[in-house]
Amino acid sequence: MGPGPSDVSPGVLSAMAAPTVGHLDPYFLRIMDETQKMLRQVFQTKNPLTLAVSGTGSAGMETCVANLIEPGDRMIIGVNGVFGGRMVDVAGRVGAEVHKIERPFGEVFSADEIRQALRQHRSKVVGLVHAETSTGALQPLEEISKVVHDAGAMLLVDCVTSLGGLPVKIDEWQIDAAYSGTQKCLSCPPGLAPVTFSDRAITAMESRKTKVSSWYLDMSMVRNYWSNSSRAYHHTAPINMNFGLHQALREVLEEGLEARFARHRDNHLALRAGLEALGLAYAVEESIRLPMLNAVLIPQGVDDKAVRGQLLNEFGIEIGGGLGPMAGKTWRIGLMGEACTKRNVITFLGALERCLIANGYRPQPGAGVAAANGVFA
Ligand SMILES: *Cc1c(COP(=O)(O)O)cnc(C)c1O
Repeated sequence: MGPGPSDVSPGVLSAMAAPTVGHLDPYFLRIMDETQKMLRQVFQTKNPLTLAVSGTGSAGMETCVANLIEPGDRMIIGVNGVFGGRMVDVAGRVGAEVHKIERPFGEVFSADEIRQALRQHRSKVVGLVHAETSTGALQPLEEISKVVHDAGAMLLVDCVTSLGGLPVKIDEWQIDAAYSGTQKCLSCPPGLAPVTFSDRAITAMESRKTKVSSWYLDMSMVRNYWSNSSRAYHHTAPINMNFGLHQALREVLEEGLEARFARHRDNHLALRAGLEALGLAYAVEESIRLPMLNAVLIPQGVDDKAVRGQLLNEFGIEIGGGLGPMAGKTWRIGLMGEACTKRNVITFLGALERCLIANGYRPQPGAGVAAANGVFA
């Protein structure tokens, strides 16, 4: 129940234990085709260029930035958490002229702020994080997308934590490039980064004057391996990792996207009722709270590390501590993919009560579990 990696289903684990085949084996090529089809469904897009990059979510970030940006290109990046900060670092390394806009951790950007930034600093790309795992805040995108396109720029979105737990509507919201990771709400071990690019993004990539700085992540070559017609060897795909993602996506679609989003929302609401009944407050305003990442303020006088240590050692439950300026101030409780269950909500609330008591904090006995049960009822 941390901020990832999330629990992995037995089906995914056994898919990964299947015999390793060659990267051009017809069976593997079929797995790749099916994975692309399923990724398009999960991203809610028709984008032909949708595939899984070899590497974790950060490799997806680097792929999108490095392929869209040439040295000297301007990019606006919203920093309201650790991952926006990482995008600034990545963009700077590929030679972007980065204009950073900031909000305090736990807040999000308005369309007006983006419009203002684009006026001051005409840019090729605007980069935002949809679900900031470091803070628990959800960035609305629809209106911003219009603002970005009106200014002739492209919208690049980090969907690492949102994909599979919240609607990510690439086509409807007209997102030009997006990346995710396997280890959050897709509930597959870390190791692949789903990405998708719009036609506009492809046109920009095809009109580059310089080569992509990363050989490994250069989409002009990687996409040939993933495309039915040209199948050229680029690098050896992490075969079993792809087996895992293929099975994880099957499980996501078998459940159904809407049902999966509802499960994340319902368990979040029950957890929230329980946490509040224990006297804990959320670190993020209600209207922009992520269901899969619950950031709460650590009560005054309670030892962050002692509680997290006890949860892990006595109950086998991992939660995350705060990152950046939130270190020592918040706990980040994940309800991602397979880990997003009623069982986990109820067990966690009981265990947390026990650990809070052991640390000198006195919640009303049983209040957390009772409140969550009230929501489930
Ligand atoms: C986890 C995460 C990443 C980085 O993914 P890794 O798998 O750790 O490389 C990037 N952005 C967000 C929002 C994340 O939650």
